[in-house]
Amino acid sequence: MKIENLVRDNIRRLKPYSSARSEYSGTASVFLDANENGHDLFGGSLNRYPDPLQGALKERIAKLKNVPPESIFLGNGSDEAIDLLFRIFCEPGRDEAITCPPTYGMYQVQADIHGTPVRRVLLTEGFQLNAEAVLNEISSPSGVRGGGRGKLLFLCSPNNPTGNLLDPTAIEFLLKNFPGIVMVDEAYGDFSGVPSWSQRLAEFPNLVVLQTFSKAWALAGARLGMAFASPEITHYLNSVKYPYNVGLPTQRAVLAAFEKQDVTTVVDEILTERKRLAEALGQFDFVEKIHPSDANFLLVKMKDSSLIFNYLKQNGVVVRDRSKEPHCEGCLRITVGTGPENTQLLKLLEALAGDQNSIIQNSIIQSL
Ligand SMILES: *Cc1c(COP(=O)(O)O)cnc(C)c1O
Repeated sequence: MKIENLVRDNIRRLKPYSSARSEYSGTASVFLDANENGHDLFGGSLNRYPDPLQGALKERIAKLKNVPPESIFLGNGSDEAIDLLFRIFCEPGRDEAITCPPTYGMYQVQADIHGTPVRRVLLTEGFQLNAEAVLNEISSPSGVRGGGRGKLLFLCSPNNPTGNLLDPTAIEFLLKNFPGIVMVDEAYGDFSGVPSWSQRLAEFPNLVVLQTFSKAWALAGARLGMAFASPEITHYLNSVKYPYNVGLPTQRAVLAAFEKQDVTTVVDEILTERKRLAEALGQFDFVEKIHPSDANFLLVKMKDSSLIFNYLKQNGVVVRDRSKEPHCEGCLRITVGTGPENTQLLKLLEALAGDQNSIIQNSIIQSL
């Protein structure tokens, strides 16, 4: 597969913006090339533009992830990489994307923003890929296509909101047979204990792996996402992004985090809490099913899920109602919090369970 043939004509021809810091990135004693304010008024050299390609950060990430720096793209959250993939590959109104719901809602939203038609191939009831159906879907012509092509396939493993890993055989089958870009979103990969698809970039030129500092790394507020792909694809990502897409405070915060702490202990603690939470939730009569999770959240099917959702909310604990998603009727998605947070959740549910006909129940019913 030639990636170049998938890229939109205007992007293939694009002459990217050339910023001051990309034209000169060496060390000098006086920088008068970027119209910055030479006075460091607020400290921390925030008067200066940051490194547009985040060299220092990429070197550290390269070591951590065992991926060469030229295969790394960094963005303002991993959502930026999703946005850029549409810009690079999908001719608006024509080229199509494929999603496999129930899954992360951002793929659909980004497609809608870019005017990209989406084909949805549902996961099975057991939340696994139907790989053959994906291929059938893109080979079947329909009025929507208007000369477009299936360009982007979004897979999420472990999947949000279901929490499970997708079968690697099915992912590999699609990497080999889908005639476009296959994005594997590993936002929750650190909780899964399985090797990242980023270790197999050399085998699949159409693979883009997405990871983030927002989950296991506890840096959601810093906004840093990673995409791992062939140097050809990262070249396009870098050509299309805003020149200074990752701010200096973010680059610094993440570099500092590397020095401070290894996240594996916290990840282990979250996994222990996940087990405790799942066992405790399993005791309640109103819990019908706890879906197996490879992530830092549980998808839980409950009787009267909207009643329980509202009860928790009224008592200051917010979970995510996913009951409108396909195959997720009655399901709440519950993030595994800290020990005390999980205990608070369980206490509220115990109060509800022990008091089925009581004031709590009545007050909920009245408030609905
Ligand atoms: C949380 C999440 C992300 C991360 O998004 P950021 O923009 O990096 O914070 C990406 N994909 C999925 C499936 C997620 O749930």
